[in-house]
Amino acid sequence: RLYNEIQELKGNIRVYCRIRPFLPGENRKQSTIDYIGENGELLIVNPSKPGKDGQRVFKFNKVFGSTATQEQVFLDTQPLVRSVLDGYNVCIFAYGQTGSGKTYTMTGPESATEKEWGVNYRALNDLFQISRSRRDTYLYEVGVQMVEIYNEQVRDLLGHGSSQKKYPFLHNCRHCLPFNLRTLGILTTSQPNGLAVPDASMLPVKATSDVLDLMQIGHGNRAVSATTLNERSSRSHSILTVHVRGTDLKTGTTLRGSLHLVDLAGSERVDRSEVTGDRLKEAQHINKSLSALGDVIFALSQKNAHVPYRNSKLTQVLQSSLGGHAKTLMFVQINPDTGSFSESLSTLKFAERVS
Ligand code: ADP
Ligand code: MG
Repeated sequence: RLYNEIQELKGNIRVYCRIRPFLPGENRKQSTIDYIGENGELLIVNPSKPGKDGQRVFKFNKVFGSTATQEQVFLDTQPLVRSVLDGYNVCIFAYGQTGSGKTYTMTGPESATEKEWGVNYRALNDLFQISRSRRDTYLYEVGVQMVEIYNEQVRDLLGHGSSQKKYPFLHNCRHCLPFNLRTLGILTTSQPNGLAVPDASMLPVKATSDVLDLMQIGHGNRAVSATTLNERSSRSHSILTVHVRGTDLKTGTTLRGSLHLVDLAGSERVDRSEVTGDRLKEAQHINKSLSALGDVIFALSQKNAHVPYRNSKLTQVLQSSLGGHAKTLMFVQINPDTGSFSESLSTLKFAERVS
């Protein structure tokens, strides 16, 4: 039922806002969040303009307050995830400044317990459960790819590398170069169900534990860089793509669906006067790709005839799961502290434009 509501509400674009709780050491007395309504209203206040003048109201499909659990968040995401088994392409991504909880929502905290699992583990877990329950009528095969987009280059996070010995099943992949030597091409003339990044390693997965292993490898491969893991992961987009092929055991007909789970680079604006060189280049690439994403979703929400997918690698990779019959869900992540007010405002405005 929720799924039908999704269709009616917003074409195929849905926006959920999530406020992260205060972290230890943050000043809890001062929050920019004034009010969260049952129907997706969010009232924020500008700390330097008390009173009516400093208030702004936003409206999304749903707002999750700081006490929302991972399970509650997933409950509202599940119908979308399940539609992948019916042959839909789905894209779920998290947008927000660094530290706003994007990774928490998509993956969970570091060394998460099952209760803390984010959307991606829960999604795969759910897909496996449903496919087991339909095993008398359908055979589902699931494969995952994991890539990173850094400075407009697409990199394979599941290629052969140091993790090979630890995970012998990686020997199954077609490619043998270390991941960091391979920058991947994108098929821009993507057929509806073709692979956007055909050369990225695709690994078969049969259970959630396989996914946990792979995510760990992918995460580790992201870390190999001059900067620290934390910095690097906030300066690049990571995309976990789940491909599902379902074969009807009676008729032999097949269905394909895909799920893109995207942890975007931090949306914070950097002060051009303060950064130079590599850092500036990174910032410009991030800026460009996030605005290209915004433009694509905006064009889709307006039902424009022309959708500018070509303006960034990010939108090219995600093309098959944005627009058409695809379903898109954006998590807008917000820091509650007053020091983040201006970033929160610009995040909310980005989301408002596409919702
Ligand atoms: P981002 O990926 O946007 O940079 P993170 O997901 O790393 O942000 O979150 C920053 C910190 O806040 C982490 O320590 C994370 O565990 C914590 N955090 C984020 N969201 C929540 C939440 N909903 N509940 C508890 N802790 C959270
Ligand atoms: Mg992160």
